[in-house]
Amino acid sequence: MNTSHQVIIAGAGPVGLLLACELALAKCTVLILEKAADPHSPLKQLPFGIRGLSASSIEALHRRGLLDEMEVPKRLQNPFTGKRSKQAGHFAGIPFEHDNIDTSGWPQGLPYSLLSEMAELEDVLTRRALSLGVEIRRGAGISGLAQDDDGVSVKVSVHAVAGQEPEREQGMRAAWLVGCDGARSVVRKQGGFEFAGTEPEFTGYSAKVDLASAAQLAPGRVVTERGMYFQSQPGYLNLQDFDGGAFHQSGEQVTREHLQAVLRRISGIDVTIDALHIATTWTDRARQATHYRNGRILLAGDAAHIHAPLGGQGLNLGIGDAMNLGWKLAATIHGTAADGLLDSYHAERHPVGERVLDWSRAQVAVMRPTPEGRALNAIFRDLMNTRDGATYFAGRVWGLI
Ligand SMILES: Cc1cc2nc3c(=O)[nH]c(=O)nc-3n(C[C@H](O)[C@H](O)[C@H](O)COP(=O)(O)OP(=O)(O)OC[C@H]3O[C@@H](n4cnc5c(N)ncnc54)[C@H](O)[C@@H]3O)c2cc1C
Repeated sequence: MNTSHQVIIAGAGPVGLLLACELALAKCTVLILEKAADPHSPLKQLPFGIRGLSASSIEALHRRGLLDEMEVPKRLQNPFTGKRSKQAGHFAGIPFEHDNIDTSGWPQGLPYSLLSEMAELEDVLTRRALSLGVEIRRGAGISGLAQDDDGVSVKVSVHAVAGQEPEREQGMRAAWLVGCDGARSVVRKQGGFEFAGTEPEFTGYSAKVDLASAAQLAPGRVVTERGMYFQSQPGYLNLQDFDGGAFHQSGEQVTREHLQAVLRRISGIDVTIDALHIATTWTDRARQATHYRNGRILLAGDAAHIHAPLGGQGLNLGIGDAMNLGWKLAATIHGTAADGLLDSYHAERHPVGERVLDWSRAQVAVMRPTPEGRALNAIFRDLMNTRDGATYFAGRVWGLI
C-alpha cells in the first residue's frame, strides 16, 4: 500500500483541525479522516456549543491570525444578554467575579478569556486547513490500524450516513498517525495506549426544554444537597446528578420524564418539564493516556485525556497539545529535529493534562452532596470571595498560573 500523505489525522474536531493547520503550515502533507459525514450538530451551536477559550488558546489563535476571523473578540459579554457579566468564571459551580481579580501581575494586551462556539471555531479552522492544502475526508472513520518501522496502515470505514453500516472499507497508509478522535478514540484503543484514571461520580445533562415555569428555578449555578443545576437562559439546563455516572453509562435515551425526575430530585422544587427538545449526557470520568506517543502513533486532545467539562478546560488543553505537537512532528518529518524533540511533546504536555484532570477532580469533591462536600463548598465560597482567592482561581482557570 502506498503512503499517500506524511500524516493521517483521525478526527476533524478542533484539535485535529488545528494540528493539521500547524503541520500544513510547516509544509507537511496531511489527510484528515473524519467519521461524521456531516460536520454540523446542534450540540456544537449556542448554547450547548459554547466553549470558554483561555489565555494560551487566545494567544495561539491570535498568533495564527485566526482570532480575527472569529466572532469571539466580540464575546467578552454574555451572548444571551449582550452584557458583560460580573461573573468571570466558576470553580465547582462557585462563581468568581471580574471586579475581585487582580490582573496586575499578568501579561497585558489580549483578553484572558473569551466565549467561543464550537461550530464557528471548527468552521474557521476548516477553512484555514483547506486553504493550506489539507485534505479532509468526511464519513471516513478509522476502524483498525497497524504500525511498522516505516509508517502506519489504517482501515477506514466509509459511511454516507452516520449510524448506518459502512458502505465500504478501504486501506490507507501514512508515515505518521495522530489520534484526535475524541474521548472514545479508536486510535488510542487500538494503538496500544494505556488509559489510566478515575471513574465517574455523576451524570451531567445538557438539555433544551420547555418549562411550565422557568422562574421556579433559582438563577446561576445552584449546588444543592443532591447535585447541581444551572439554567443559563430560560429552558437551557445543565444538571449534575451524583449517580456514579450510571445513567450515562447505561446508554439510555434521556426522556422528558427522566429529566424532570432528575431536575426535581436535584433542585428539590416541583418543576414541570412540558417538552424536551434536545439532551446530551456526560460524566466526570477522568482518564489520561500514560504515554502520548507509541512509535509512529500519537494522541492529542480528548483522545489523550478526558475529564468533566467543569470550568471548561478540555478544548484549551487540546489546543495546547496541537500547538506543541505540530512543529515538532513537522521537524521530525523534515529530518531537522534534534534528538528527543518529538518525545518532549509527551514530557511537556502530559503534566499539563494531569494538572487539569486534578482540577476537575477537586471540583467534584467540592460539589459532592455529602456533609463533607457541603463543608468544603462553604470554605471555598469564602476563599473565592477574597481578592487573592478570586485571582488564584481565575489564574488557574485561564491557564495563567
Ligand atoms: C458540555 C461540555 C462543555 C464543555 N465546555 C468547554 C469549555 O468551556 N472550554 C473547554 O476548553 N472545553 C470544554 N469542553 C470540552 C471540549 O468540548 C473538548 O475537550 C473538545 O471538543 C475536544 O476536542 P477534540 O478535537 O479533541 O475532540 P472532539 O471535539 O470530540 O472531536 C473528535 C472528532 O473525531 C471524530 N471521530 C471519532 N471517532 C473517529 C474515528 N474512529 N475516525 C475518525 N474520526 C473520528 C469525531 O466525529 C469528532 O469530529 C466541554 C465539553 C462538554 C461536553
